[in-house]
Amino acid sequence: MNKKGDNGQRKIPSWLIVILVFFLITFVMNFVTALNSSTSSLQITYDQFLNLVEAGDVEYVYMDDTQLQIVLKEGITTSDLVEALNGEELPEGIADEENEEAIQYQTLILYTGRIDDTELVSLLREYDVHFSQEIPQQTSVLTSIASWVLPIVIMYLIYFVIMRMVMKRMGGGEGNGMFSGMMGGGIGKSKAKVYNVEERTGVTFADVAGQDEAKESLEEMVDYLKNPGKYQQIGAKQPKGALLVGSPGTGKTLLAKAVAGEAGVPFYHLTGSEFVELYVGVGASRVRDLFETAKKNTPCIIFIDEIDAIGKKRDSGLGSNDEREQTLNQLLAEMDGFETNSGIIVLAATNRPEVLDQALLRAGRFDRRVIVDKPDLPGRENILKVHGRKVALSDDVDFHAIALATSGASGADLANIVNEAALLAVKLGRHMVMQKDLMEAVETVFAGKEKKERVLNPKERQMVAYHEVGHALISALQKDAQPVQKITIVPRTMGSLGYTMNVPEEERYLLTKEEIQAQITMLLGGRAAEIVKFGTATTGASNDIERATDLARKMVTQYGMSDHFGSMGLEKTQDQYLDGRNVSTCSSQTGAEADEEVRRLIDSCQQEAIRLLQENSDAFERITARLLEKENISGEEFMELLREK
Ligand code: ADP
Ligand code: ZN
Repeated sequence: MNKKGDNGQRKIPSWLIVILVFFLITFVMNFVTALNSSTSSLQITYDQFLNLVEAGDVEYVYMDDTQLQIVLKEGITTSDLVEALNGEELPEGIADEENEEAIQYQTLILYTGRIDDTELVSLLREYDVHFSQEIPQQTSVLTSIASWVLPIVIMYLIYFVIMRMVMKRMGGGEGNGMFSGMMGGGIGKSKAKVYNVEERTGVTFADVAGQDEAKESLEEMVDYLKNPGKYQQIGAKQPKGALLVGSPGTGKTLLAKAVAGEAGVPFYHLTGSEFVELYVGVGASRVRDLFETAKKNTPCIIFIDEIDAIGKKRDSGLGSNDEREQTLNQLLAEMDGFETNSGIIVLAATNRPEVLDQALLRAGRFDRRVIVDKPDLPGRENILKVHGRKVALSDDVDFHAIALATSGASGADLANIVNEAALLAVKLGRHMVMQKDLMEAVETVFAGKEKKERVLNPKERQMVAYHEVGHALISALQKDAQPVQKITIVPRTMGSLGYTMNVPEEERYLLTKEEIQAQITMLLGGRAAEIVKFGTATTGASNDIERATDLARKMVTQYGMSDHFGSMGLEKTQDQYLDGRNVSTCSSQTGAEADEEVRRLIDSCQQEAIRLLQENSDAFERITARLLEKENISGEEFMELLREK
């Protein structure tokens, strides 16, 4: 696939480039200096210098604070010089071309250290030598060109190296020549592909279970892609795009693929966050590129996952993002740019529809909204069946029971459960998946794997057992709460030391105030057990407390179920397809009152739990003793023990 970064073998690693550039710069510098010094220099001693002056060979002397530079007269021969220097060897390349003997005028510079010599000036005057204070700067044409050009070259190279790194990070890196990245139009036109193409997805609607409404609204698009004529004839316009909205793992991608698969058209898939880069213009050019390719391959489906990454509302002054806006604008322009009946359908998925820019949702763009939500009971059963087709199942498998036990699970969770069960069956040496494997897999997916090697000390084990039986007992004693499926005190990898599994007899869509209260009481049953049995509290109840408080707060602030506030709403939910953050809409004083109300609710539930446990202390002890003995108790066994008298 055209995933980013698959052209790696052509890329020069950036450290190598840095080293190469470094050597290049050093080389150029040396070259320039070499050109510059076509003169040779020779250090001589001060008395050799005096000899030269006295021999009348010197034309000019430049002096500075530390040095004297001596320029010889024209026509001085090498032998004159050697004589004056008492046989000193001369550097090569100073002889005149015509006259081998003569020294080429001004090619040899002699220098010597300066000595505090008061008679030097009169000596120089005597022999008619010119002299001056400063040493002349030798600026050849070459040097001056180099001093202009070299910084530019160096800057360019540094720029180039940085850009290479940036391109690499972007997954770009077009071209193979050193400079093609720059010359080929710069990063803005980066052809880095961020999308995948599947010519045939091989997914059909039969692979998607439990999303019947969603399928229904998408079926029309499939029909259109298959028989566009039928629609054009009547003058009906097809929607250009649909927005699939729902929690993660509910099958949005799967549905989009199924649309492509059913219609038998190519599927262009990309993720919103991959569009947006640090550099302005990249995202926009990628959008353009994608649509250009798609237009050449109609009919087809373009699927943009996580569209909220680019499609956020544009007004938000703080933290506004030029790159994202440009990308979004480009997307809007592209969606307007193709004809309604051109055979491209753009599907996009998000779990935060409320943050999307209104312009995206306007008619002619993503004008359809398809809700793909967490599956209900029959939906879960069907999803389990779809995935169950891929594994060998034993006759005892009852997907209805599994579906009941997995309220709130997404399609992805359920797919995972079936797979875990199959893995478990293999591990146990079976060649079929049995119901108990599936049950175990449910626990694995929600609570983690069993952690047999974690050994609790006897006291802790006892505390955990009482805690769990506390939950179970409260749950069974209140007729409004769900019956118990299983109690265990085997620790799990996801942190629980034991747990009580409740499974409803049927799926519930509405809850009454009494039922929620019963649930809170059940959640606090663990803590109540600690108080009743050990007169203390443990850290093991923290998750229970969090959930109980959550429920109580919702009763007060959202469900209008408190006496104090009546039906007044104090909070609203944001990101309902994610974890559902609650945002307060009331004054801080009212908020404080609400806190007080929540506390009162929880308190009364806690008291109720304690009372129930104290009243049934026989059953409490009996069941705990059995649990400590067996580690796991099934729902039936639990009920038997409870009824025993
Ligand atoms: P999303 O895009 O909504 O986050 P995906 O479509 O990627 O979720 O779903 C992930 C996987 O979960 C799918 O590949 C599929 O195996 C499974 N799955 C999710 N929903 C369903 C469903 N309704 N029916 C069958 N399988 C599903
Ligand atoms: Zn608990």
